[in-house]
Amino acid sequence: MDRKRILTGDRPTGKLHLGHYVGSLQNRVRLQDQYECFFILADLHTLTTKPEKSAIEEVTSNVREMVLDYLACGIDPEKSVIYLQSAIPEIYEMNLIFEMMVSVPRLQRIPSLKDMAKSANLNEMPFGLLGYPVLQAADILMPRAHLVPVGKDNESHVELTREIARRFNYLYGEVFPVPDVLVGDFGSLVGTDGNAKMSKSLNNAIYIADDAKTVQKKVMSMYTDPNRIRADIPGTVEGNPVFIYHDAFNPDVDEIDDLKDRYRAGKVGDVEVKSKLAAALNNFLDPIRERRERFFAESGLVDEIIYEGTLRMRQEARETVTEMKKAMGLSGIWNKISRKAEKARKSRERDNA
Ligand code: ATP
Ligand code: MG
Repeated sequence: MDRKRILTGDRPTGKLHLGHYVGSLQNRVRLQDQYECFFILADLHTLTTKPEKSAIEEVTSNVREMVLDYLACGIDPEKSVIYLQSAIPEIYEMNLIFEMMVSVPRLQRIPSLKDMAKSANLNEMPFGLLGYPVLQAADILMPRAHLVPVGKDNESHVELTREIARRFNYLYGEVFPVPDVLVGDFGSLVGTDGNAKMSKSLNNAIYIADDAKTVQKKVMSMYTDPNRIRADIPGTVEGNPVFIYHDAFNPDVDEIDDLKDRYRAGKVGDVEVKSKLAAALNNFLDPIRERRERFFAESGLVDEIIYEGTLRMRQEARETVTEMKKAMGLSGIWNKISRKAEKARKSRERDNA
């Protein structure tokens, strides 16, 4: 039997950070043998908040960096298809069809879109940003995916995809699976500043490609329990970003327990907690950095991976869209018109001859 499929991806707005890793990337690496995986470099989604030409010019280098991050984290291009969204014309087509399957008030109720508009300093909601999760439904249903590993902020988008798939299937017949969402162990990893979401735009991210010194520096200036102005004051562990990162990236559970006990009792300084965290993070990142360097040194490798993946996806997309239009009876209109027209033209040519 064919393996079930995964679709997920990232907007090429820069390098990937630890939030991307625990939110989604980790699950992709874990599941790539079990599922047939499709990873989209979602540059059209970048246009929803940044349509300027200058932003588009940055996409090429951003997708290259992102794919290096994928490979470094263990994504195997022999097993998984990595492709460029803007190079798949069928995604634009499917997006338009799916726009008919959803109401404006339904989209307006999705909270993440308002947050995105706000953080992009847009005071009016662009039509395309409101349609962000509709475009995402096209991404997900193009390879007819069954599972979508994403962070918490994307959960409501996958819910909309499920509704669109059901609506389409109800109107035109079973074409699409109704995909499940898979949120990572840390659905929304806090930022180094204590903000609920680690994010490039908030400047509170530790990047997968950061070197050891940078990681050390970022960790030492991390936000912790603000009430603990001295090391002998008992501190709060729950919700404390430093301990959240320990739990996420430090495999030494005994060390973490000991630090937590002493923190609660006011018997450990921030410097020790942070130094141990920086060491754990650098241990975690060291092999990733090494692989990243190795892939980086292979000239053209990343472009070849994107190229091959995109060609493969184009073929997949043509098949899905052909089936979609057939189910709708949409392709039938042109087929009938063109057949009749060709017949008429031929018979006229015969008469004239
Ligand atoms: P940034 O704000 O840093 O640009 P993003 O949310 O724009 O990040 P996307 O490309 O939109 O990044 O999302 C890629 C995937 O990573 C999504 O599944 C998203 O939910 C997940 N993700 C992003 N940031 C985090 C985070 N801090 N914690 C958990 N998952 C995250
Ligand atoms: Mg982004």
